[in-house]
Amino acid sequence: MILYNTLGGTRQEFVPHEAGKVKMYTCGPTVYHYAHIGNLRTYIMEDVLEKYLRYAGYDVLRVMNITDVGHLSSDADTGEDKMLAGAKREHKSVMDIAKFYTDAFFSDAGKLNIKTPDVVEPATNCIPEFIEMVQTLMDKGYAYFAGGNVYFDTSKLDNYYVFGNMNEEELQVGVREDVGEDTNKRNKNDFVLWFTQSKFEDQALKWESPWGLGYPGWHIECSAISIKHAGEYLDIHCGGVDNAFPHHTNEIAQSEAYLGHQWCPYWFHVLHLLDKRGKMSKSKGGFLTVSLLEEKGYDPLVYRFFCLQSHYRKPLIFSFENLDNSVQAYGKLVQKIMKLSKDGAPEFEAAKPYQDKFKAALDNDLNTSLAITALYDVLKGDIGDATKRYLIADFDRVLSLGLLEAADRELEKAAKAEAEKAAQQEKALEEKGLTKAWVEEQIAARAAAKVEKNWAEADRIRDLLLEQGIVVKDSKDGATWEIK
Ligand code: AMP
Ligand code: ZN
Repeated sequence: MILYNTLGGTRQEFVPHEAGKVKMYTCGPTVYHYAHIGNLRTYIMEDVLEKYLRYAGYDVLRVMNITDVGHLSSDADTGEDKMLAGAKREHKSVMDIAKFYTDAFFSDAGKLNIKTPDVVEPATNCIPEFIEMVQTLMDKGYAYFAGGNVYFDTSKLDNYYVFGNMNEEELQVGVREDVGEDTNKRNKNDFVLWFTQSKFEDQALKWESPWGLGYPGWHIECSAISIKHAGEYLDIHCGGVDNAFPHHTNEIAQSEAYLGHQWCPYWFHVLHLLDKRGKMSKSKGGFLTVSLLEEKGYDPLVYRFFCLQSHYRKPLIFSFENLDNSVQAYGKLVQKIMKLSKDGAPEFEAAKPYQDKFKAALDNDLNTSLAITALYDVLKGDIGDATKRYLIADFDRVLSLGLLEAADRELEKAAKAEAEKAAQQEKALEEKGLTKAWVEEQIAARAAAKVEKNWAEADRIRDLLLEQGIVVKDSKDGATWEIK
């Protein structure tokens, strides 16, 4: 598989550390508010990556943290604690806020068919691991204590800016200048590993540490949680592009200083979802959530389809107009699938070229829009319906668009509507003292009269039915009838 690697800034062949196994880490949500559909774009594309690696035969371990402490309003170490701000906003405790928004995140993710990672670990579960890591960094001379906090000393590294290929604008995207400078830092990019001195009041969660009562910086959690569960060699680290700097840059700095060797060779970053105000962001407010889409009548899986229609390395512009186009396209796919017969058995040989095309699309830096083209090719293809159904299910192991299920639901709905209509008809006939059998007898007699060219008899029967409020309609497939 070829993947674009932010480390190096080129497309590279993906080769895991251990043959056949992939260890993947995902920066999890900061649970102080609902995840917006921009955040979820990132999780959808990471989900596709994970599922494709499994589809391609790898044994995958995926780890994700839940940020429930330490993430300040600038991604550098300044500003207000996001969790605390959330708690104040809702007059609840930090832990209540964390629980509520963690549950909300997984509920939204479930609606988008995003698989829950194998390991999900809240930061507050791993305080001893963070302290051990910070202590080792202190012992190795990579960290210093100043003004009550422990900082990572970036001047100890030859190449702190590992993503040097990113342009200045991309590098600065996670850092905001509207927050005060930390005068304890020896170097501009040094970052906090452990806080005991807050710049804000009421830090709710504090733990004992060798440096005093305090709490971890944001960056340390991902390094420590990843190493705890995935070991010293991680294969792919994922996140939204705003995470590349400073968050991922800092993760690499501290992890490699701690381990003494390269930690993770592949860095997968998803570009942002934009709306007319620019990057969709929790802190700006006015963002869209899955529940909001549902309230407006959109199926969350149509949003997943919308995301998959474009490449993860391009910014994606959200508008309801664009989403409506996806509604149309998704609906048409479902309608085509509804027409596929459920009889017969798939022909695996005939399926193979379609699978090859699907794989080639995703092997090409996870080109999901080309993978969807492969799905359209299946529906157009000169292959049996059973093979088509087999391929749609096979591709859905990665795409997770739920198309077969949606088609089944539509068929069920149609059958239910049909049955309701028949029951209503029966009731109406009963009220007239008639039966369906009698009506069908008349229709058959009229058809026979027409064959004999006995038009007068045919008209008599039509009028007789009409008197009872039963309208006969002729078509090339014969006559149908309905009650007025
Ligand atoms: P957060 O909950 O703020 O820590 O962010 C969760 C994930 O969403 C991170 O991987 C971010 O990089 C990503 N993210 C934030 N905003 C956007 C956006 N507008 N589009 C895509 N991904 C985003
Ligand atoms: Zn992270």
